[in-house]
Amino acid sequence: MSDQAPHTVCIIGGGMSGLFTGALLAKNGYKVTVLEKNHIIGGGLQSFRRGNAVFNTGMQAFCGYGEGFAMKHFIDYLGVDHDDLHFVPLDPNAQEIVWTDQKHAYQLPKTRKRYEDYLISQFPNEAKGIHHLLDAIYEIGSTFDYFWLHPMQLHPAAAKYGVITARQLLDSCVSDKTLKRMFEYVGMHLGYNLSCLPATELGMILNLYIEGGWRIAGGNLPFAKHLAQFIEDNGGKVCNNSEVSKITTENRKITSIQTKDERTCIADQYVCAIPPKAFLQITSGEVLRPTTYNRILDFNNDSSCCICHVKLKPNQMRYRNNLIFIPTPTEDPSLPHYISMLTPPAINQGEWADTVEILTYTRYNEYKQWENTKTGQRGADYENKKRETAQRTIEYISQYYPELSKAVDEVYVSTPLTIRDYYANPNGAVYAQQGMFAPVKTKASNLFITGQAVQYQGLFGTLTTSIAVTEIIMGKSLIEEIAKA
Ligand SMILES: Cc1cc2nc3c(=O)[nH]c(=O)nc-3n(C[C@H](O)[C@H](O)[C@H](O)COP(=O)(O)OP(=O)(O)OC[C@H]3O[C@@H](n4cnc5c(N)ncnc54)[C@H](O)[C@@H]3O)c2cc1C
Repeated sequence: MSDQAPHTVCIIGGGMSGLFTGALLAKNGYKVTVLEKNHIIGGGLQSFRRGNAVFNTGMQAFCGYGEGFAMKHFIDYLGVDHDDLHFVPLDPNAQEIVWTDQKHAYQLPKTRKRYEDYLISQFPNEAKGIHHLLDAIYEIGSTFDYFWLHPMQLHPAAAKYGVITARQLLDSCVSDKTLKRMFEYVGMHLGYNLSCLPATELGMILNLYIEGGWRIAGGNLPFAKHLAQFIEDNGGKVCNNSEVSKITTENRKITSIQTKDERTCIADQYVCAIPPKAFLQITSGEVLRPTTYNRILDFNNDSSCCICHVKLKPNQMRYRNNLIFIPTPTEDPSLPHYISMLTPPAINQGEWADTVEILTYTRYNEYKQWENTKTGQRGADYENKKRETAQRTIEYISQYYPELSKAVDEVYVSTPLTIRDYYANPNGAVYAQQGMFAPVKTKASNLFITGQAVQYQGLFGTLTTSIAVTEIIMGKSLIEEIAKA
């Protein structure tokens, strides 16, 4: 492209997907404009500050950052210095699963052999099943070529496990109830029904969790800012406070997009990196293939969460470099199926934690009565409900971690409505919805879709889909180049 005017690309949405796609295109000579509705970019990468305390709004763990993983090579490919990003690997025992009624915690180690040996030591009667299940999980994981930066190939395992559900896979391997719930929590904390979820999706997520996660010391937002800086250093623009309100199409081609404050953006290509239902509000369904359009209409995932962002008193609660999951009794509808808790790392993290983030699985319906109100004006009942949620959750967790209740200084609670308004995701779903497995190319010749709902969730889905969109726009494969970086 060096001897021609650069191709222009306008990206709607400045979350991970928009920024990943923008950075890949900018690296390859495209002139990129990213339009983000919020006053701060990042979507699920956003963090906020209360005094000295930093809290993350979304991403808690980056599964797939280390050596050999797509994310590490992606950052090398951009030439961003890893030292500037402050990624911290979780401890060797990366996950702690706590059964409060049994007063017992399982410390799940990272990597296949250690994970398998540990589980077998705890559930010796299930040794054969555990081994089979892990074989399946790793076989499934190996089929995700883009994530391992392999050229696409046919995988018999993808077909084998694509036709059974996550529930069928688990039931065919293990029978102990506690053990089964330990594998289930991944699907359940995403709010998925394991009887509908393909085994491939659960297998991939479990594979990533077993391989361990990373976190960013000092909050996730600087990562988003580095990506935005990279786009701008390469001739692009990242504009916050730029909500797109309309996409104009003529003869199956996007001609322009308009922002809410009546600015117009014209580009050669357009990439939509926002939740699919928000996408339908700004365009006509005609640009989508009927199957994709109908799947978006059908999805009504309302699995969300409340997050208690807890500021701690100094030197009261020890920092833990792991992810803690606390299953809760399902017969008590006032408690979610899982609570997850973590102490995020600070830069130069010492022995004591500054903050705790507690996520409680919550249905949107619980907060529906306030859906027509605005932040800060939702009323006393809403504020009381938030307070009660925080109190009940902290009390519950303190049964196992008694130091928590004494350590609490202040608590800021976000609800499914916060998530709805923040991400423009109707129903406030945390993980958008189960992947649509939709093609990234739409019926409009110059419009592409990316984002966590298009194929897979989280870091894994946003990165691989963004690579796929970039490859189609460029008309060439990038996988090998990224893998070599
Ligand atoms: C509480 C929570 C915890 C999570 N934990 C993890 C985790 O540990 N690991 C993991 O891998 N994933 C996790 N996720 C999921 C992860 O955050 C998402 O998969 C990821 O952020 C999705 O990125 P995205 O770019 O597709 O969408 P988003 O991050 O939602 O970004 C979309 C962006 O588009 C903007 N936008 C929307 N409409 C418009 C418009 N009309 N015009 C302009 N801009 C618009 C939004 O403001 C937003 O910034 C978590 C999510 C939540 C909410």
